[in-house]
Amino acid sequence: MSKTPSRPTDLGERTRLVHAGRDPFEQHGFVNTPIYRGSTVLYPTTDDLLHRRGRYSYGTKGTPTTESLETAWTEIAGAAGTVLAPSGLAAVTLALMSCLKAGDHLLMTDSVYRPTRQFCDGMLKKFGVETTYYDPLIGAGIESLMRPNTAAVFTEAPGSQSFEMQDIPAIAEAAHRRGAVVIMDNTWATPLFFPPHERGVDMAIEAGTKYLSGGSDLLLGLVSANERCFKALRETYDAFAMCPGPEDVFLALRGLRTMALRLREHEKQALEMARWLQARPEVAQVLHPALETCPGHAIWKRDFKGSSGLFSVILKPCSDRALAAMLDGLALFGMGYSWGGFESLVIPFDCASYRTATSWAPGGHALRFHIGLEDLDDLKRDLDAGFARLRETDAKAA
Ligand SMILES: *Cc1c(COP(=O)(O)O)cnc(C)c1O
Repeated sequence: MSKTPSRPTDLGERTRLVHAGRDPFEQHGFVNTPIYRGSTVLYPTTDDLLHRRGRYSYGTKGTPTTESLETAWTEIAGAAGTVLAPSGLAAVTLALMSCLKAGDHLLMTDSVYRPTRQFCDGMLKKFGVETTYYDPLIGAGIESLMRPNTAAVFTEAPGSQSFEMQDIPAIAEAAHRRGAVVIMDNTWATPLFFPPHERGVDMAIEAGTKYLSGGSDLLLGLVSANERCFKALRETYDAFAMCPGPEDVFLALRGLRTMALRLREHEKQALEMARWLQARPEVAQVLHPALETCPGHAIWKRDFKGSSGLFSVILKPCSDRALAAMLDGLALFGMGYSWGGFESLVIPFDCASYRTATSWAPGGHALRFHIGLEDLDDLKRDLDAGFARLRETDAKAA
């Protein structure tokens, strides 16, 4: 029996992050819901077993650990319900499979996370769903691309790597007028900086691998859904039984409690680094929606409550060798995929080869940065030395 008095409903965000999904007196007073490992759940009587009577029925259907995170995320995201998945990409596929069937048409932003694109072009196509890619800046113009069989519009803001800002409320209004479901990959902002369901999104995806973990030490995905979409989403989850491991869920719950603090720090650090990079002679453009000079800034300011630690820069033209000299010698920035951990990262990227609805020709090499929690002076010194290597390599070749 719970001894916890019911919480007031008008709590602040940080209070909710601390309390959501947690009931210590269900756990003998221990603060955290422990890692429940288990497949079999026992029933006390034949009658209970035959009627599947009981709070839990089988390991894949949920445990107190997974339920803790689902309940917490539903509250934080302002949703009707949440399902978990073993990775962010698995969460994307669950959301799509829950609202699409053979013969349906899907509208997908051209700026989407690339593996999502590959799922549409491979799996969805194989099962008879047609995908049309659209310009991420289309806004209310999405209506002109809608067909009678358009079942879903998928959005991601800002765009993966390229940071286009989408007008989500305008897209949602147009899509809903035609009866389509609106899905958003909200990994960059998290529900703390963009409350997806308040802004018209029916299903929102979070790669928990990123800021929910905060430590580059787990893989997890979450899909939150409103009343319209939750039932089908949960049925899809049950059909696949694509459940995450209990340790990862436990670590995500631990990350949840400090997520607001970490995000605010990533935001502050990334903004300062973005401004520092913008002032560098080697940099042509910084793509960070919270910077006044970024094309998507007005939409970001209207719809978002903050910005996270991930942004991109376009360098002035330099050789491939000069770029490699810069990156290979970095002592503090790591090079690798994924992001959202405590450490700073950088990767070169080029969207030109796979975009189909828009072109990508920024006129110089592009780098995506994730700014971690290190001392900024150390990060700047690391990049400063990198830029010196870049300049020297091209000067020597000239
Ligand atoms: C990382 C990422 C994903 C996928 O998450 P994984 O856990 O790595 O599968 C999906 N969407 C976006 C925007 C991401 O950055």
